[in-house]
Amino acid sequence: MTTPQSIVVLGSTGSIGTSCLDVIRSHPDRMRLLGANAFRSGKALLKQAQEFQPDWISLVDEAAADGTSFDLLSGKTQLFTGPGHVERLVQQPEVDTVVSAIVGAAGLEPTLAAVEAGKRIALANKETLVVAGSIVTERAAACGATILPVDSEHSAIFQALQGGRKADLRRIILTASGGPFRGWTRDRMRDVTPEMALQHPTWDMGPKITIDSATMMNKALEIIEARWLFGVTAEQISVVIHPQSFIHSFVEYHDGSVISQMSPPDMRLPIQYALTFPDRLPCPCPDTDWSISTPLELHPPDMEAFPALQLGFEVAARGGTSGVVLNACNEVAVDRFLRSDIRFDQITQISHDILHHHTFDAQPTLEQLYSADSWAREEAARWNS
Ligand code: NAD
Ligand code: MG
Repeated sequence: MTTPQSIVVLGSTGSIGTSCLDVIRSHPDRMRLLGANAFRSGKALLKQAQEFQPDWISLVDEAAADGTSFDLLSGKTQLFTGPGHVERLVQQPEVDTVVSAIVGAAGLEPTLAAVEAGKRIALANKETLVVAGSIVTERAAACGATILPVDSEHSAIFQALQGGRKADLRRIILTASGGPFRGWTRDRMRDVTPEMALQHPTWDMGPKITIDSATMMNKALEIIEARWLFGVTAEQISVVIHPQSFIHSFVEYHDGSVISQMSPPDMRLPIQYALTFPDRLPCPCPDTDWSISTPLELHPPDMEAFPALQLGFEVAARGGTSGVVLNACNEVAVDRFLRSDIRFDQITQISHDILHHHTFDAQPTLEQLYSADSWAREEAARWNS
């Protein structure tokens, strides 16, 4: 019998985090939860620790620990509270794999720490590559870290790439459901409320990515993520609207052959593939029902109604500080929209305006990225139409 893979889940209480624990629960002979980290959901983290008995758990927001009975933890699990622990913990020699499932740019530092330690990284936190794709991929190559995609589209591309040679690749085509406002005009989207935008037609996800899917900024971030993960140019990336979310993306080779990966929309499959690659094991997710008729549609995207897509292509082509600025503006704008401080269509407007007047740097250091992040957040917080 082989030793189970020791896994750390960053953002274990979120949508991806809990799906990941479902996968670990299904394969006790192959996987073990070694450590888990969350922001302020102390009760959920405690419950996970009681079930999985990891070596440690870490809660970033100390104040959130107050109301939680962590004295119920078994002696086996150590508790760390406050920021800063997780970067050290992911680097410990007993860690095999780090699942990066924190939401937002906050995922960058711990993910980069895991990269520096040469770990296998199952990457859900696309913001890591949007913000610092050049540095992260360069450090991964230098440190022997492997980055395996969890994002369903990128997992599909990664799987389809097993069917051919990278040198023969013509383009990759990301599928997008189109979100709840597919077919709407920009004008009609002016009055969208947070409640409306939080209803996704095919995926059940955390609130930030659900809003990003409604503006299609999620697809923009995924264009940039794909550019770094697969080392392709912006011109080699296309987006196609596929409302059923069954085809998770396509790869097109020079001979015109198109290869895709399909499955019912459930994140446990791409999470599991990142954890077991190159093996394929039974997965705790629904199988395809081949007994029913299933129309599969493909449509070109409406770039005018969803200007975020244009920003995605622009940033993927430009690189440098443009990714960090786009991401920071979008995080602040989504938060302002959820607090009913700005309109739905202004989420993309903020990112557009600030992106186009920032002082661009083509080869920023990590420190310069952090200061561009702070600058863009301040600008986005005070943006007024
Ligand atoms: P979520 O909001 O459901 O969960 C976020 C998790 O991160 C929680 O455990 C939270 O405690 C933790 N967290 C938040 N801020 C933190 C901080 N500052 N420090 C440490 N932990 C922090 O989010 P989600 O939908 O699971 O998304 C997580 C990531 O995965 C995002 O980058 C998202 O784009 C990506 N992703 C999600 C899905 C999905 O289906 N949900 C699909 C593809 C990619
Ligand atoms: Mg995705």
